[in-house]
Amino acid sequence: MQAQWHVADATIMGTSVHVELWHPDVRTGKALVASVFDELRRIDRLMSPYKEASELSRINRDGGQHTVKVSAELVSLIRQSQRISELTHGAFDITFASVGFAYDYRSATRPDRGRLDALHSGIDYRNLITDATASTVSLGRPGVKIDLGGIAKGYAVERSIGLLQQHGIGHALVTAGGDTRVLGDRRGRPWLVGVRHPRARSKLITRLPLDNEAISTSGDYERFFEEDGVRYHHIINPRTGDSARQVQSVTVVGPDATQTDGLSTSVFVMGVERGLALIDSLNGYETIIVDRHGELHYSQGLEAR
Ligand code: ADP
Ligand code: MG
Repeated sequence: MQAQWHVADATIMGTSVHVELWHPDVRTGKALVASVFDELRRIDRLMSPYKEASELSRINRDGGQHTVKVSAELVSLIRQSQRISELTHGAFDITFASVGFAYDYRSATRPDRGRLDALHSGIDYRNLITDATASTVSLGRPGVKIDLGGIAKGYAVERSIGLLQQHGIGHALVTAGGDTRVLGDRRGRPWLVGVRHPRARSKLITRLPLDNEAISTSGDYERFFEEDGVRYHHIINPRTGDSARQVQSVTVVGPDATQTDGLSTSVFVMGVERGLALIDSLNGYETIIVDRHGELHYSQGLEAR
């Protein structure tokens, strides 16, 4: 039998990764899947906040005292994050981590009022100073921390697809957690990517046909704990330092997975009204928002579809 679709799964960047690609040759197909996994592991080594040796950890250790020299790649993704911060007026802000690190969803730990107030002043993307020419990053002052969790998976997926494209692949899908990018179609028909129901694990709210596009979902159901009926989850509103509570899930579709990832986290923080206005103002991007009552909201282009 000639295996032309190569399908494989792995756990990388703390999440499930799924790859599908079409190649007529078995060995080449397998090697390309392996190179995607390697690329994702490389990005994780560079950007993980949990790996002490990562460049990102080095910034968090020393960047409050002095500028830190890192790879051009990391500087570039941090700058891309800053542009999304400006676009969203601070709803997306990688310095959320100044407070974010005090939450631990597995052990149901969160900062109390006093601790939150003390850490909160560390959140402000304008504290971050990047120099693309010198390839340096500074956190501006002690107490500031950064985390690329809201954009790194989309970036990694986008890079993987780029790599496959360079090797002449025309049909592929790469998913890391809630971020997916497809290359081409599924040989004659569109890829169908399901959007999970935020409150019913096995249910989908819809399936979207995709051709050469990216899709990202941010939800309050991935990492959370409940205390006195309040859900504490991993998407933080930079204004309050508390979990964002306007919506249950946000899906963003568009041409680039780095952007759809950053934007889905952003819209989650911004809520229905401001989120729809943002996405409707961007060319090529669409969104489906599930609000806190479970009602669906679509951006203009999807409503038309
Ligand atoms: P997932 O990691 O489940 O794919 P998201 O793409 O929505 O989900 O990203 C959530 C992650 O984004 C959090 O785990 C955290 O690392 C980071 N994050 C949380 N709040 C913000 C924020 N306001 N701005 C930027 N990043 C954030
Ligand atoms: Mg995101």
